[in-house]
Amino acid sequence: MRKTLAINGGTPVRTEIFPGYNTIGAEEEAAVIRVLRSGVLSKFLGCWDEDFYGGPEVRALEAEWATYFGAKHAVAVNSATSGLYAAVGASGISPGDEIIVSPYTMSASATAAIVYGAVPVFADVEEDYFCLDARRVEELITERTKAIIVVDLLGLPFDVDGITALARKYDLKVIEDCAQAPGARFAGRFAGTLADLGVYSLNYHKHIHTGEGGIVVTDDDLLAERVRLIRNHAEAVVDDMGVEDITNMVGFNFRMTEMEAAVGREQLKKLPHLIEIRQLNAEYLSKGLSGLNGIEPPRVRSGATHAYYVMGFRFDEEKLGIDRHSFIAAVKAELPVSRLRETDGVLISEGYVKPLYLSAMYQRRIAFGRQGYPFTMCEHARSVSYARGICPVAEKLHEKELFMTELMRPGMSRPDLDDVIEAFNKVYEYRSELQSSGR
Ligand SMILES: *Cc1c(COP(=O)(O)O)cnc(C)c1O
Repeated sequence: MRKTLAINGGTPVRTEIFPGYNTIGAEEEAAVIRVLRSGVLSKFLGCWDEDFYGGPEVRALEAEWATYFGAKHAVAVNSATSGLYAAVGASGISPGDEIIVSPYTMSASATAAIVYGAVPVFADVEEDYFCLDARRVEELITERTKAIIVVDLLGLPFDVDGITALARKYDLKVIEDCAQAPGARFAGRFAGTLADLGVYSLNYHKHIHTGEGGIVVTDDDLLAERVRLIRNHAEAVVDDMGVEDITNMVGFNFRMTEMEAAVGREQLKKLPHLIEIRQLNAEYLSKGLSGLNGIEPPRVRSGATHAYYVMGFRFDEEKLGIDRHSFIAAVKAELPVSRLRETDGVLISEGYVKPLYLSAMYQRRIAFGRQGYPFTMCEHARSVSYARGICPVAEKLHEKELFMTELMRPGMSRPDLDDVIEAFNKVYEYRSELQSSGR
């Protein structure tokens, strides 16, 4: 029987709302109540004291996180953004230094450089895996380059071999933004532990969460201590602590509360199972969409496992004979929204965030103050380009070729996944009925 696409007035594949993603249960409830009853909601002191390191829940979370991921140190902070700032500061970055970073990431990955007066230099991403391309990075290294910030985008570990070789060759620090890939692995090691410093996010939108929160990991004793200082009022602590190198020892309050840490401990226990379900669901969806010529499921780098924060598919306009926007709009019309995240709609999106250099801060070169600091602080900073076209792969992925979905997350049953597959297959079959929007 011939069907009509829902976007053209036909019956949608499904109208019943999808299950919500909620990892918070009785375990977290009990943990929060334990903390509330203790009366100690945070124990940090911003001075050189036993409590400089925080309370029992924060310390337990840090110990458990370090053990689980196989890092020597884990430092809890109040967000991955704070964690990235602390990691850049701990690395001894100075104003005018250059930090190479992917443009295809959440904005904080690059803002971390700017906070320390460093200039983000954007290198393009890999066609196949969407992470920083080591060949493009090497072309941009100058004597001012001090660090690389890599991102395990969408849940896949970065090119560890390529980037690590560059770091050795040019003596650069590598900071791994692992906000999207807790539980992914490369060569058996956990993502987040694949660089000098790694940063995890515990915000509401990530695999596991504490509402807001983050963790910095490192095997380096000195870097760990510097992150702890930046987290907790460094300048008020270094004298009594007897710290020699006070570079960047300007403190913030990035401290995590005891309730968040207690929730984080329960969430960490759930992580392996949650990742396993994501991987099984992603495999099932990939298989279900494998017959669609022009839609390519996520590739997994050799030696790696994927944590599937989201699934990033490639869309080939030529093979499909229709543009991405028209196709995805039609798929979304076939499917319902999700419980708890209704405002996010159907959880299928075109592209990710626009390449960062296209945002106003870079285009207008205005960050701190009116003089354009740090973009205008010296000749070489001024010469870093943020022009459209500097990262053609990221631009092309964003504007035409990448679409993403979260519909493989835990809570989705096989029949739920079957509906997603059916929606794509239906639109594929009847795509000639769609008018190309010309977008
Ligand atoms: C979510 C995210 C962050 C920021 O995490 P917060 O904990 O919200 O600060 C940073 N980088 C990437 C890649 C992210 O996805």
